[in-house]
Amino acid sequence: MNTVVNQKLDLTESKKYFKKLWDVIPGGVHYNFADPERALIVPFVKGKGSRVWDMDGNEHLDLFCKFGALFVGHNNEEYNQILIDNMQKLTSVDTFDLEHEVCQKLIDNIPSAERVRFSLSGTEAVQNAIRLARGYTGKPRFVRFHGHYNGNADNVVGGRFNADGLDFPVPEMFKGDMLDTLGRFPNTLQDQTFMLPWNDPEVLERTLEQHGHEIAAVLMEPICMNGGGILPKDGYLERAKAACEKHNVILIFDEVITGVRFGLGGAQKLLGVTPHLTTLGKALGGGAVPISAIVGRKDIMDYYAKGKVIHAGTFNGYPMGLAAIKATFDLIEKDPGCYDRMGGLMSQMADIFVKAAHAADMPLVLQGMPNGMVFHSQNELVDRSEGYTAKVKMCDIIIREISKRYGIQFSPLSRMYSNLMLNQDDVAFFEERIYPTMVNAKQIIDITF
Ligand code: PLP
Repeated sequence: MNTVVNQKLDLTESKKYFKKLWDVIPGGVHYNFADPERALIVPFVKGKGSRVWDMDGNEHLDLFCKFGALFVGHNNEEYNQILIDNMQKLTSVDTFDLEHEVCQKLIDNIPSAERVRFSLSGTEAVQNAIRLARGYTGKPRFVRFHGHYNGNADNVVGGRFNADGLDFPVPEMFKGDMLDTLGRFPNTLQDQTFMLPWNDPEVLERTLEQHGHEIAAVLMEPICMNGGGILPKDGYLERAKAACEKHNVILIFDEVITGVRFGLGGAQKLLGVTPHLTTLGKALGGGAVPISAIVGRKDIMDYYAKGKVIHAGTFNGYPMGLAAIKATFDLIEKDPGCYDRMGGLMSQMADIFVKAAHAADMPLVLQGMPNGMVFHSQNELVDRSEGYTAKVKMCDIIIREISKRYGIQFSPLSRMYSNLMLNQDDVAFFEERIYPTMVNAKQIIDITF
């Protein structure tokens, strides 16, 4: 093991600046996960590769990667150059010469992609997919799953298990409302959605059997990253697809996290099940500019061509976004071993993480895929769609918060993501910092509980 840096970082300037942000931004940030009473936010001034530097000059390893979006690494010169060239050539127009190439790349790589439409955010892509499924099938409702996150829209945020009278076991702790928001349009969840436990083929089959006549789509993350890095059980995706096809229901894979990040063909290629529609976002454009896509079967997507379903958006398919996709795909195609290399480095860090946790007498497990892992501070595989205790959640939060004081940026909800510029030095850096992180996290957890 390398020298252990047991010194907490001096974050004086960073903290001062974060306080100032409160004068102009509610909560000091532009998203959830910032509980200002608890969360330490570190504002950064520059980044290179896998590292970022804060206002006090401290160096951090970035495993947050902007909620998994940052795939190319910070200040990746080759990527930057493609964006700059494009900026200098063309800024805002309607149709331009990159479009065919970029769409073709998606069609060549992603099994479900026969046609492509672009939007800006993952949220938009998902909403467009739901509307398209409704337009195509003529049915109003859709199925979604507990533990999955599908964006910031009224019909996919919050709610409780609901399958209109269908009986299935619901763990006690999930009987109340889940992640919810004030201001949601009344009844969007009850009227539009069935919320089911994921990875249970019988529940899905029964729901479609009874309600298939009013269900347009089944929407799921094929690997449930938001619910804890859970892989589908053997045969689950195949059965889900068969049930959908039996009842004329569109199967939508939300690959906003898994697309590009786990391979150019996304989780669907790895898992061998092709959905009818797919949503992509985050890493699709490398992580520096917003771009998302909906791809899918020609006859469904052609509802856009015929103007039967509206897909509006001023910036849809804007040049910079498409240049970002081209740059990302170019970098990956030139470096075909990149997924294995990044995954190997991440796996080394995962091993070190587990060892450090054990040294601090804390059981810890990691789930998911090498290029996107979710860690859990307990000793059994955690399926948040079956049970996830407040204590476990608190431990995860503590590890994440403490890590910032020692220079490792994890993603909210205890995730760690790779990027193309990750290298062996980052593993050494991780090892050096994770030991004191774990020891200190353990102390706080012991005091807290
Ligand atoms: N779908 C999934 C699976 C996501 O993880 C997210 C964001 O985390 C979204 C959709 C929404 O994407 P965006 O935040 O770009 O709107």
